[in-house]
Amino acid sequence: MANMAVETLAVHAGDPCPHPKYTPICSPIHNAVTYTYDDMETLDAVLAGTDTGYVYHRYGNPTTAVLERAVAELEGTESAIACASGMAAIHLALLAAGASRDSCVLAANDLYGGTYALLTQVLGSQGVHLEAVDTTDLPALHEAFAKTTPTVLLVETISNPLLRITDIPAVAQIAHAAGATLIVDNTFAAPCLYHPATHGADYVVYSATKYHGGHGDVMGGLIAASAQRSARARDLLKLVGSTLGPNESWLILRGIKTLVLRSRQQCHTAATVARFLSAHPQIERTYYPGLPTHPQFSLARRLLPGDLYGSIVSFEIRGADRERAFRFMEALTLVTPATSLGDVYSLILYPAHSSHRTLSEREQQQRGICPNLLRLSVGIEEASEIVADLAQALAAIRE
Ligand code: PLP
Repeated sequence: MANMAVETLAVHAGDPCPHPKYTPICSPIHNAVTYTYDDMETLDAVLAGTDTGYVYHRYGNPTTAVLERAVAELEGTESAIACASGMAAIHLALLAAGASRDSCVLAANDLYGGTYALLTQVLGSQGVHLEAVDTTDLPALHEAFAKTTPTVLLVETISNPLLRITDIPAVAQIAHAAGATLIVDNTFAAPCLYHPATHGADYVVYSATKYHGGHGDVMGGLIAASAQRSARARDLLKLVGSTLGPNESWLILRGIKTLVLRSRQQCHTAATVARFLSAHPQIERTYYPGLPTHPQFSLARRLLPGDLYGSIVSFEIRGADRERAFRFMEALTLVTPATSLGDVYSLILYPAHSSHRTLSEREQQQRGICPNLLRLSVGIEEASEIVADLAQALAAIRE
């Protein structure tokens, strides 16, 4: 399937293997926790890894393996691993990349709040040192590498929630010149907008809970990497146990089939919503990489395909405090206040109390998470109806 377009790959990657007489149109769900073999020598060989097969759910299962094959094909990597959540994927990739006692992780300073908390509260307590840097500022990144000797550089292609773009090919070059491993969280771009592994990322991670699943009904995480790096991560996965279940794997596989269609539609609608918000007198600032006013518009045009800039739009309501921002969210009738993104439903959240809740007020301020900031994930509803809902909710809180 190497030469297929992403639209075709998304539908057919991981297609079931033919039975001698028939081929099911989609992969079955294997719920077995353990597997038996006709003879003990075969079981021993599978356990040793010298023969292929399955032994125990935590080590891998046939349904999850199909998902992993599909993800590797979509990402253009030799291998992929599915985990129980996006956080589990980030944790595993960090461990596999060498984040251990006395090592340093250099990370983008506006990462998803949960990732930042994982680095400070979990890995930090285990002796991993964290340095934060603005990875959109390449001279600052060079300087950070000169000052520290990080084992890992961790960035997001499009950051959460301020939608800042990191130049992946450029940061890959800087990281590799310094002997560091590059992990890219590509959740906000999803595979149809960008393929970090083909631009130098050593590990690509996703919260598959978002665009891959896409329907708000499944949680999962993905790592795509070379066979060697994946093998390291899989050995760790067997021990930490954050394996993805077969039912979840199947739902994510099903989500992937419509990923490109959904994502394209969401991007087009998000552009319409961003234009509406940026022209609205009650909106102080709109964050969207597809707006010419975005500070990295030209980088976004260079990295992202065609006129697709993602389906997340963040914005600040002029003069609003937390109470007014909440009133706006409560006045919405179509867009749903809920903590996720990338779903078919339009969802809105208040970053200061959800995605970035674990950060102190000072850390939030430093990262530009203001009390009037909201993050909208645009779904596949009709664009004019999303815009009308935002307009009526803004009118409802007008003073
Ligand atoms: N990475 C990013 C960019 C996210 O936004 C999130 C969650 O919102 C995660 C990782 C964590 O994913 P999960 O909730 O599936 O653990």
